[in-house]
Amino acid sequence: MLKSSTIKDLAHRAGFDLCGITSCRHFAENEHHFREWLAAGYGADLLYLERNLDKRFDVAKLVEGVKTIIVCAVNYKSARSLGYPTPNHRTKIASYACNRDYHSVIKEMLTTLYASLKEIVPSLKARAFTDSAPLLEKQLAVEAGLGWIGRQSLLVTPSFGTFVLLGELVIDQEVDSYDSPFVGSRCGECHRCIEACPNSAILPTMEIDARCCISRLTIEKEMTGEPNSTSLDGWIFGCDACQSCCPHNRTTPCATNPNFATPLFDPASLSAEEWLTMTKEQFSERFGNTPLIRSGLPRIQKNINQD
Ligand code: SF4
Ligand code: SF4
Repeated sequence: MLKSSTIKDLAHRAGFDLCGITSCRHFAENEHHFREWLAAGYGADLLYLERNLDKRFDVAKLVEGVKTIIVCAVNYKSARSLGYPTPNHRTKIASYACNRDYHSVIKEMLTTLYASLKEIVPSLKARAFTDSAPLLEKQLAVEAGLGWIGRQSLLVTPSFGTFVLLGELVIDQEVDSYDSPFVGSRCGECHRCIEACPNSAILPTMEIDARCCISRLTIEKEMTGEPNSTSLDGWIFGCDACQSCCPHNRTTPCATNPNFATPLFDPASLSAEEWLTMTKEQFSERFGNTPLIRSGLPRIQKNINQD
């Protein structure tokens, strides 16, 4: 049987900063809240959220034979994560997007972890996920003891705050011990993320109204010729406003994983004019391996023109 301590050691060697281990269960309460959130229309046009609801809240329905979920997190905090030199900067980009696309990076790290575990247990079967399937990633992280869900609905970890990216290795074997869920919240009386949100998108229920969340508006909203009816507050890809204000992010260290320790570019050094005169070829060459490619240059230019 795999040892929890061995798994965590190998996860750190694969480049993760945090690793917790949990067993499977059906998250009935989360499913109830999520269905209410969808019914209230807060999911906007993110239709993929409505698919596979039964699997989203019960990993056993998503992966046959699953016994254990290894939840890993990597710190991506950079100097830019905490804000911009001028508050009215017009070309702000969420700091995770200034690195290689985390989908590829984390998949590689999980593949490394899986290969290491298979050396110990050759019969081990596993599937790796990172923001790529209907998996309740943040709740699984809480179950695995990594942190709590903050008022802005993000995972907050005691060691690295909110600037973490999650990946999960779902395996078909039990391990010698499981982590206890993280109990309670350390938000206390703080409401800074709610106050910092430019569009009042954070609901009292600790959920997000995707209809006015800048992260969705700049990346996921179907692009039409019409301008957005809500402000983007200078953000052209994603939004860090409800994270950079969080007191739990103030003193946490910057990333040490080589994939995130040195961002590929600094959005503060790029002017609106540079973005607007950039060709598709220049964009692909410079940002082709970052998450910006998912959005594409036309959308970024539209976001700049809107504000
Ligand atoms: S990402 Fe931005 S717009 Fe969305 S909830 Fe956070 S602060 Fe508000
Ligand atoms: S800003 Fe405050 S309320 Fe929001 S997640 Fe951080 S500690 Fe919690």
